[in-house]
Amino acid sequence: MTAIPKIQTVALVRELGGPVEFVDDYPVPTPGNNEVLAKVLYTGVCQSDLHTKNGTAAGADGAPITKIKLPHVGGHEGVGRTIAIGPGCSPGLKVGGLVGIRFSSRICRRCEFCLAGTEQYCVKSTNHLHHEDGSFQQYIALDADYLTILPDDIDPKVIGPVLCAGLTAYKAVLGANIRAGDWLVVVGAGGGLGHLAVQYAKAFGAQVIGVDGLDKRDFVLGLGASEFVDFVNTDPIQRVHEITGLGAHAAVVTAGSAKAFAHACEMLRPRDLAALESSPSMLFPTFTSETAWSLGIALRSRILSLPTPHRKPALISITLTGGSEPHVVFQCSTEPGTVPDNEVWVRRKRNTVLRWGVSSWLMRQKMLAGVGGDASGVEAAFVAKFALASSSGGKVADDFAIHGGGFR
Ligand SMILES: [Zn+2]
Ligand SMILES: [Zn+2]
Repeated sequence: MTAIPKIQTVALVRELGGPVEFVDDYPVPTPGNNEVLAKVLYTGVCQSDLHTKNGTAAGADGAPITKIKLPHVGGHEGVGRTIAIGPGCSPGLKVGGLVGIRFSSRICRRCEFCLAGTEQYCVKSTNHLHHEDGSFQQYIALDADYLTILPDDIDPKVIGPVLCAGLTAYKAVLGANIRAGDWLVVVGAGGGLGHLAVQYAKAFGAQVIGVDGLDKRDFVLGLGASEFVDFVNTDPIQRVHEITGLGAHAAVVTAGSAKAFAHACEMLRPRDLAALESSPSMLFPTFTSETAWSLGIALRSRILSLPTPHRKPALISITLTGGSEPHVVFQCSTEPGTVPDNEVWVRRKRNTVLRWGVSSWLMRQKMLAGVGGDASGVEAAFVAKFALASSSGGKVADDFAIHGGGFR
């Protein structure tokens, strides 16, 4: 039996916007009913932790998240070992097992989403980013019925980042629906999310094209990418088409730039799908003509999926027929599990699907001409409707929080 101290060292945020302090006398939690106590072995640091610390975290509606437990201990990419088991836990739990310390900390197990197995959307969920102390401490109490039990033979050093960055990258690759042999482009392939997406895509059987700066070349190829495209010194769109012939089957964007989104769209072959894993708030405030045109081309017969915790627009059908303003509606009829009221559905749907409501690029141009508006007017309307103020007052680069949000 490991001796459990009464106090521990933690990285503490006392007030939002304040510094991170290392405190040596923070109480060690006592595992309550149906909880285990784990000793934290390793933890990653997610950019979202910085948003919480800085008071710039944004919710689904783009508004600042203010319900943050203070003082707060961040960290949601941790790996720990259970050292004590509280009362009421199921007998299968063992002391000494490895457990993951994820973003999500608790769920209700009773709401519609929990009952459907989509508990990442639980209406009463709490998380280690805002509501409970996370893995930037030596000891943590975890819900025993919502444990991420890790295999004994994993290397705990490498698993931490998998629990947030890995989940995010995995979901993007999963959402790309690739088949073995398909070409999948990872834009930002050498980055924190991208290098994981490369490995997941490779494991899915894809031929991976990594796009990044030249200094990432050897790293990305070493991860199993078939090709590397240096986006600084070559035209990445042209290069992807040279490699693939018809264009890539899917693209995963892990770079926080609207240009990367636009480029990815143009790298795809007709009728294929872009699973973009980033914050659409990166996209919308910078919704330039270039982006719009690229999206228009890309979405000719495609769906652009933007799974994100920011959950900005859900499913949008944009029709530009008649009237002086573009008519933007939420469309839910084709999605499973929908509810009759579009707005309600939009609030409930946690991932983001953007659908261009015209069947061809040419048609869109005709429609634009028909309403007598220019593209920038349309984009302005988009931005007015969907680009809610970012958590950091519109500073796009700071508004790049990512969470995996589960596997669905
Ligand atoms: Zn995270
Ligand atoms: Zn629930």
